[in-house]
Amino acid sequence: MRPSLRLGRIAGIEIGVHYTWLFAFALIAWSLAEGLFPSEFRGSRATYWATGVLAALLLFASVIVHELAHSVVARARGMTVHGITLFIFGGVSNLGDEAKRPQDEFAVSVVGPLASLVLGWRGMGAPATAG
Ligand SMILES: [Zn+2]
Repeated sequence: MRPSLRLGRIAGIEIGVHYTWLFAFALIAWSLAEGLFPSEFRGSRATYWATGVLAALLLFASVIVHELAHSVVARARGMTVHGITLFIFGGVSNLGDEAKRPQDEFAVSVVGPLASLVLGWRGMGAPATAG
């Protein structure tokens, strides 16, 4: 999937968004700002929207981390990585070729969910450990 807009590079991997991502972003920000936040917290409409937009951005930042894990491991195992594109259903790593060995396919596949697990673990208030 080719991005409609290029945002920049992280670790040499191009990050972009497909235009369909705007619908997902707007829907998430709106549902938080007009639905969840007013029903759960006291605040102003401006605060609900600022927090809704920030929460949607953080969600997609976590999608980028997930995709970066796939892409960085793919590149380390010799595969061509064209970039990462955010779209309406989340994100996708654009790889130029298939893994040649099953263990490479496994490594590339498993690191994305592992990265998300680590982010979720921290997000659920797990105590930080030194080092
Ligand atoms: Zn994944």
